Amino acid sequence: MTLSVVVPCYNEFDSVKEFHEEVTRVLKKEKLTYELIFVDDGSYDETEKKLEEIAKEDKNSKVISFSRNFGKESAMLAGLECASGSYVAIMDADLQHRPETLVEMYNKLISEPDYDVVCAYKSSRKDESSLKRTLTSLFYRFNNLISDVKLLPGASDFRVFKASVKDAIISLPEKTRFLKGIFSWVGFNTIYVPYSPEKRMHGTSKWSLVKLLKYSLGGIISFSTKPVKMVFIVSVIVFMVGLLNFILMGNLSDRTIIFLMSIMFLAIGIIALYISRIYSNILGRPCYIIKKKIGFGNK
Ligand code: UDP
Ligand code: MG
Repeated sequence: MTLSVVVPCYNEFDSVKEFHEEVTRVLKKEKLTYELIFVDDGSYDETEKKLEEIAKEDKNSKVISFSRNFGKESAMLAGLECASGSYVAIMDADLQHRPETLVEMYNKLISEPDYDVVCAYKSSRKDESSLKRTLTSLFYRFNNLISDVKLLPGASDFRVFKASVKDAIISLPEKTRFLKGIFSWVGFNTIYVPYSPEKRMHGTSKWSLVKLLKYSLGGIISFSTKPVKMVFIVSVIVFMVGLLNFILMGNLSDRTIIFLMSIMFLAIGIIALYISRIYSNILGRPCYIIKKKIGFGNK
């Protein structure tokens, strides 16, 4: 098997058939052996049924169905764990990632033996609201300031990489996963290619602003302990300010008390985020539960 393409799908009933046709048309032209691993992430529309029909008719298509929605990160992980190709790709099911671009990325990787990953980064965000664009840009700046893993602004999960990179990624035991950060953490030589995402043909983005904020915050926590270390420094400063105020003025004004308390509540909030992360990792629950697998033989 040369290329495994992992496709996370959540309520993509309208897109999967067209996606399958387009990708098949483009990959068949390349004359390489490939598999399409569709991961149905607990869709509540007809996605699972559609995927099963596709897998029945096309021996290159395989399906993993989750018992419920576990999120795109889990869907990608499950797909990677089942991928058997010498090269692996991840792409979205909504045709925002063009199959032609996938082939270009694959050919680039083949032609550059010193490189291990080709990553597509969004060169335009025209279709996004200005609020989303501003928040995204703030996230990248903040992340690159405080996190141990640096991210290229706009770097997406749309990537093609060698099996050795996939093996490194799936060997990481963490339960709360942030693949963009993981790619950066495992290293390897990466080529970044610009791409401009197509307009979504059907349905809407599964990412609300709140979901994106939670995801971004989770990403920062995954790869940096700086926020929690800063809590210690800030606590010392707050203590000193409080003490000095008390010694010099005899008492603390209401304003000072409210100011110091706000900072301490923020500090407690940051600690709480890390504790909840430790807690969920200690529970050791799996990232996903598979309900059904189709097309994988006896595996
Ligand atoms: N997706 C998923 N599980 C989720 C949310 C999304 O598998 O909980 C899939 C979705 O079906 C799509 C890809 O992840 O194939 C990207 O999602 P979406 O298009 O909503 O994100 P956007 O393009 O807006 O970043
Ligand atoms: Mg999309």
